[in-house]
Amino acid sequence: MIIYSVCNSCYQSFSLTVMPGHTELMNQIRDEDEITCPCPRLCGGRINIVNIPELSNASRTPPMVITAQELYQAVNGMGLPDEIPSDPLVVDALLRANKIAKTVMEEVNGRVYIHEVVLENGVVVHFASAARGACILKTTKERPCRPESSQKD
Ligand SMILES: [Zn+2]
Repeated sequence: MIIYSVCNSCYQSFSLTVMPGHTELMNQIRDEDEITCPCPRLCGGRINIVNIPELSNASRTPPMVITAQELYQAVNGMGLPDEIPSDPLVVDALLRANKIAKTVMEEVNGRVYIHEVVLENGVVVHFASAARGACILKTTKERPCRPESSQKD
């Protein structure tokens, strides 16, 4: 099933492919109204996860094509495919070209953990830990996945 979906806040459109085996993933992210879920851009808006015929006719820009699994991962903070950098040269250029405007860190038991670096151009670089070291989880435009108000330690 392919669902044409639009965010009610950032207006990003998606062409969402839901295979029969992805029903459980969709159940885990759907809202109580059963027709929406959080926008995978984590903009604070909601997207429809059922087809609304009027929406597919209103499309102006080509939708981002994603699967239910990609939607699930993005809603859970792992980033949309276009937010996950895969080229070290791109990351190097991004970090060299912009001063750091803000950092999001926490101190736990005398160790400092860095979660995000906000660059002057508004790009937020989100970090995760991996076996090989710090991993860039995703880059977004000033939409921190961990607002300070909701941080817990
Ligand atoms: Zn959105």
